[in-house]
Amino acid sequence: MYSEELKNGIYQNLFKKGRRQTLNKLNEDRDVKMYPLFNSTKRKVENATSFLPEDIDFNARIYCIENQIYEHPICLYCGERVKWNSK
Ligand SMILES: [Zn+2]
Repeated sequence: MYSEELKNGIYQNLFKKGRRQTLNKLNEDRDVKMYPLFNSTKRKVENATSFLPEDIDFNARIYCIENQIYEHPICLYCGERVKWNSK
C-alpha cells in the first residue's frame, strides 16, 4: 500500500496548486532553498516505486502510485516491460 502521507506529499509538492497536472521539469531536482520539499518528496516516491528502472520518467512513478501498481507493468501486445514514453 502507498501511504496517504506519500500521496498527500505528491499533491502538495509535485503538482500545480489545485490542478491535476504535475509541475514542469519534474525529472530534474530543484534548489532546496526555493522548493524545500520538492527533492525529498521525489526521493520518497522513488523509494516507494523502486521496482521501476532508475532512469524512468518521473511521471511513471506517480502513475503507479495513483493507480496502485506495485510492479513494472507488462505490455499486453509484446510481453515486454512498458517503457513509458515521456510526452
Ligand atoms: Zn509492447
